[in-house]
Amino acid sequence: MKITRNASTASMTGRTPDNFSGAVRVDNLSNGAPPSRVGTGVVTFSPGARTVWHTHPAGQTIIITAGKGWVQREGGPRDEVGPGDTVFFDADERHWHGATADTGMTHIAITEMVDGKNVDWLDPVTDDQYAG
Ligand code: MN
Repeated sequence: MKITRNASTASMTGRTPDNFSGAVRVDNLSNGAPPSRVGTGVVTFSPGARTVWHTHPAGQTIIITAGKGWVQREGGPRDEVGPGDTVFFDADERHWHGATADTGMTHIAITEMVDGKNVDWLDPVTDDQYAG
């Protein structure tokens, strides 16, 4: 058993522009020990902030805990999500997630590693795509 204490690692700023647009803070929650491949964290997006388009090799679950956000998979509509909503992105499904234009959003992210990585960052979400 491993207890990871709250705020035991420093907050990280999203490495814009490769990963995020706008102000994003990432706080690690826990990382499972092998053979677990799960890592969890909290991502806090300021209004207007979002990820770039990206994929996860084993998919990703996000649980929205505060605010109001937008999520979209390639070829699908931009959907609005709020506290208590959970979104699962399929493995290798191209998608983005972020805050709405005028309200911040916080989600927990649950992501599995495959061959040492859990994400492939792709292209920025354009302002037109973000506007829906
Ligand atoms: Mn994702």
